[in-house]
Amino acid sequence: MATITTRGTCSFCGESFSQRGMGRHLIACKARKAAMQEPLGVGRSQPRTTTIYHLKIAGTYLPYYWMHIEIPGDKTLQFLDSFLRDIWLECCGHLSAFIINGVHYMSMRFEDYPEDKDMKVRLHEVLSPGLTFEHQYDFGTTTYLTLKVIGEREGQVIGRDVLHVMARNDPPEQPCDVCGKPARWICSLCLWDWESEETRLCDDCASRHACGEDMLLPVANSPRVGVCGYIG
Ligand SMILES: [Zn+2]
Ligand SMILES: [Zn+2]
Ligand SMILES: [Zn+2]
Ligand SMILES: [Zn+2]
Repeated sequence: MATITTRGTCSFCGESFSQRGMGRHLIACKARKAAMQEPLGVGRSQPRTTTIYHLKIAGTYLPYYWMHIEIPGDKTLQFLDSFLRDIWLECCGHLSAFIINGVHYMSMRFEDYPEDKDMKVRLHEVLSPGLTFEHQYDFGTTTYLTLKVIGEREGQVIGRDVLHVMARNDPPEQPCDVCGKPARWICSLCLWDWESEETRLCDDCASRHACGEDMLLPVANSPRVGVCGYIG
């Protein structure tokens, strides 16, 4: 299969860039530089000054699902985890973890693993520019994300739950494996069967698919597409 890449749109200037070009663009974007003069977030409260991180987040094995975000350093890993669940991951409340410099920060802690930490850790306590770390959602059928700290800046923030998605991938083109029309369904059985050549399906081909309609999940713009009960 050819390597899939996706483009995305800069939320500041509205221009489209490739997966690889977006990181460089966001550092240079004039519209973003102007936006940085204003506080991040909205509200009537007093702005606070804090470190703000630029993170690139991508599917570890499906890197054509990606995002660039800005997030205040005084927010916790728990806040970042719930954002990732909302936008990409949540199907049925599985466990999740960040792995940062070998330490596991768990959505729930267990007595058998006293060395693990919880997610009530502020980002500025664990992040630094250049750091790459991981997120895992669901320890059965795991979705793996790789996060990289592209940069940090001191800036003003207003409001509590502040996070800005600066850019996100456009939905990748997924042709039907049978006829080549745009796929709308993924067979959750065939996805795990490397012998199956009919995983992505259009409406017509889905209705004739041998595994049955109960196994089909909608194509979603997420690295968890087709997994467990994920419907987007
Ligand atoms: Zn831009
Ligand atoms: Zn699930
Ligand atoms: Zn088809
Ligand atoms: Zn199937």
